[in-house]
Amino acid sequence: MTDQRDPHAIATLLAADRRHAWHPYASALNPPPVYPVASAHGVRLRLGDGRELLDGMSSWWAAIHGYNHPVLNRAVSAQLGRMSHVMFGGLTNEPAVELCALLAAITPGELERVFLCDSGSVAVEVAIKMALQYWQAQGQAGRNRLLTLAGGYHGDTFMAMSVCDPVTGMHHLFRDVLPRQLFAPRPGCGFGKPARAADIAAFEALLTQHGDAIAAVILEPIVQGAGGMHFYSADYLRRVRALCDAHGVLLIADEIATGFGRTGKLFACEHAGIAPDILCLGKALTGGYLSLAATLTSERVAGIVCSGEAGALMHGPTFMGNPLACAVALASTRLLLSLPWQREIARLESALREGLAPAARLPGVREVRVLGAIGVIEMEQAVAMGPITERFLAEGVWVRPFGRLVYTMPPFIMRTDEVARLTHGMIAALEKYLSQPSGEEAQ
Ligand SMILES: *Cc1c(COP(=O)(O)O)cnc(C)c1O
Repeated sequence: MTDQRDPHAIATLLAADRRHAWHPYASALNPPPVYPVASAHGVRLRLGDGRELLDGMSSWWAAIHGYNHPVLNRAVSAQLGRMSHVMFGGLTNEPAVELCALLAAITPGELERVFLCDSGSVAVEVAIKMALQYWQAQGQAGRNRLLTLAGGYHGDTFMAMSVCDPVTGMHHLFRDVLPRQLFAPRPGCGFGKPARAADIAAFEALLTQHGDAIAAVILEPIVQGAGGMHFYSADYLRRVRALCDAHGVLLIADEIATGFGRTGKLFACEHAGIAPDILCLGKALTGGYLSLAATLTSERVAGIVCSGEAGALMHGPTFMGNPLACAVALASTRLLLSLPWQREIARLESALREGLAPAARLPGVREVRVLGAIGVIEMEQAVAMGPITERFLAEGVWVRPFGRLVYTMPPFIMRTDEVARLTHGMIAALEKYLSQPSGEEAQ
């Protein structure tokens, strides 16, 4: 589609979309409305009909530098002229190797060994496979369960689904095929607060009771994303790390959403001053340009994994180490590190705090919370996607709630006045929606 706004072309596109495209978590029988994007620049999405929207989502945490960034565009073009892809089995390529070295250097602890793959869910699968092979290699194949936190989200593939929240995840749908994992209560202690003794006790009880069967603990450090946009205590995370050590269990940190500065630290583990044994990265890794993810571990863990029967980590995606994706990931990460990003996140944090504060006074709002460049309005009840989306569009903002959560994680380049416009638009839309939940625009 061009930028042309030809209503006939848009109608044709939408008809073909309804006929053939399957959107995320969407019905094919009664497809929800979708809006064609013609182009995106900086913090703005331009729709096919010419409307311009301030982007509050960074395309699901990914587009941290905004859209159509000259530095990232150049990195892709330059790499395209060399090769877009070559296999990673038996061959290697400079962008992939440089990216592995850079990730090893900037991540917490001694995560020296990097496994590149295509998406966050696969990075989680790889992390779990590493943990299982780690124990197999030590003659403890019975250690094959995972301990995680309620309220988590780790992706949509089967093993990843098994560690998503048992209620809001898809456990009931796939009851008979999902492995049964162990769930500690969601930590009730907010960010900046000490851990609650009851939360620690519940976590420790599970470790004590099932320790011999547990391969690893997997969690999202500090911010639980799609499982509820919940922020929790760094003290809790520190205590979990200590308990994993005491019980000899691996700790997998899923920083697919939190990595690359989003929470105010480069990686959310740094809020607690801890390092995991295995780390998953994705989403913002390429600045939102291409699908790429990574699973990192220490030489110690990698060495044990590879001392087992197979003699190798048994995984190898076709598009592993894709040079195009790695080149833009390198450019995005170097760009981030070259910026005063801590200052920028602090600026966004205070702008979101100020901008979203008035939402706390709206009826039906349970809580407003902000951490780093993440702002959340938690409602008492789930919002209706169709009608509320129309309200957001009328305000010129792109915000995509889920359930009771109306939230934003804008690109880091969003100016303070634009954040004010974004948050004002969110609140105005919410106010109109609340006073007339199924407005005339409702589908
Ligand atoms: C998005 C997400 C995933 C899954 O990543 P995909 O690229 O969608 O497969 C896993 N874990 C967390 C914490 C995420 O936010």
